[in-house]
Amino acid sequence: GALTSPRKVVVLGSTGSIGLSTLSLFEESGAPVEILALTAGGNVERLIEQALRWRPQVAVIQDETKLEALRNGLAGSGVRAAAGSAAIIEAAAMGADWVMSAIVGAAGLAPTVAAARTGAVIALANKESLVCAGPALLAIAKAAGGSVIPVDSEHSAIFQVLQPECAHRVARLILTASGGPFRTWDRAAMAQATPEQAVAHPNWSMGAKISVDSATMMNKGLEMIEASYLFGTPEDRVDVLIHPQSVIHSLVEYADGSTLAQLGPPDMRSPIACAFSWPDRLPWPAPRLDLAAYGQLTFESPDLDRFPSIAIAREALRLGGGAPTAMNAANEVAVAAFLDREIGFLDIAAAVAGTLERMNSLGGLSIAEGDAVDNAMMIDASARRIAAEVVAQKHRR
Ligand code: NAD
Ligand code: MG
Repeated sequence: GALTSPRKVVVLGSTGSIGLSTLSLFEESGAPVEILALTAGGNVERLIEQALRWRPQVAVIQDETKLEALRNGLAGSGVRAAAGSAAIIEAAAMGADWVMSAIVGAAGLAPTVAAARTGAVIALANKESLVCAGPALLAIAKAAGGSVIPVDSEHSAIFQVLQPECAHRVARLILTASGGPFRTWDRAAMAQATPEQAVAHPNWSMGAKISVDSATMMNKGLEMIEASYLFGTPEDRVDVLIHPQSVIHSLVEYADGSTLAQLGPPDMRSPIACAFSWPDRLPWPAPRLDLAAYGQLTFESPDLDRFPSIAIAREALRLGGGAPTAMNAANEVAVAAFLDREIGFLDIAAAVAGTLERMNSLGGLSIAEGDAVDNAMMIDASARRIAAEVVAQKHRR
């Protein structure tokens, strides 16, 4: 049934890279959807365009100064215009069957939690919300009778090959990584890397923040934590393998030595389609995998000296408590500072490590009693304050 009757859908972050892929998939597949809401951060022109095409009940822009422009653009269309973070949370909780969570950063946490409380299927691209408050978010979705299906390509791959009846027989989750644009660069060159070079990813076209995360490989660090929470796998059973072609999206090694992998061309519409139709498969004119055209696939181990973010994330996962939350917040601050040319490329990981150390020595990584999401947001806020100080010190140097 899910694919024959229209599904009520909300797309959070519709104007971003994943949002565009989601709407493109709906277009290409002709999947029966009724869009209740589209939400965006600040790109009002694109939001208007999308709303006029898809006619949701409401289009929400986070930036309240753009409400007037949104109203004007939607005049006479029957689509309601709204603005602000509270309106995004309301849109997330409209009672959709399926919610695409594709806001970037911990800003996506509150809307994602609101959607999870309604028992919707959450298609989760927004990995930062999981890293910020994963256990709480998953518990809320479960309690409401909903589910969280990963959209991140690695986690979608694992989700597709991890047989629930064999979950206790998993020896290792192996996350593949392209290695990013600086895979072959030495540290001296990386120290001079510009934002333009960092966002030029070899295989994927993505938002600026995740592109920088791919360049530092903090993206893989975040994904290790995401995988550990999603699949209940301890830190020492989550590994990273560099695979520059991005064809094998990840692997699951079982206790008997058998390893299962999921493959496909690098196109995010494929994991989105999986999250939309699971356990069914959505027919659409997807680009097909031509392995002969690749000729060969290659693999290497990650270099933790040039990419310390992987080790930082592993340590945060090992520490537990609020460490992943603080790490994610510090990374968001440091990436923004790098994109604003306030700090150098290698300062990003250094600032994250420095923030974690300061937080830890202040006792700021322990989780207090009470609401887990509120607690995560508090740790997120204090990590941002400390990270801003750490970044300012690097900036002055
Ligand atoms: P993006 O920057 O292209 O898009 C982000 C979207 O969120 C936009 O619609 C933007 O307007 C909106 N937004 C930004 N800040 C907001 C705020 N404070 N409040 C409300 N809305 C806000 O990013 P993206 O590449 O589409 O990535 C989205 C999420 O998906 C990220 O968490 C990223 O890690 C994850 N992801 C992306 C890809 C990819 O291929 N792009 C792959 C895997 C996972
Ligand atoms: Mg990924």
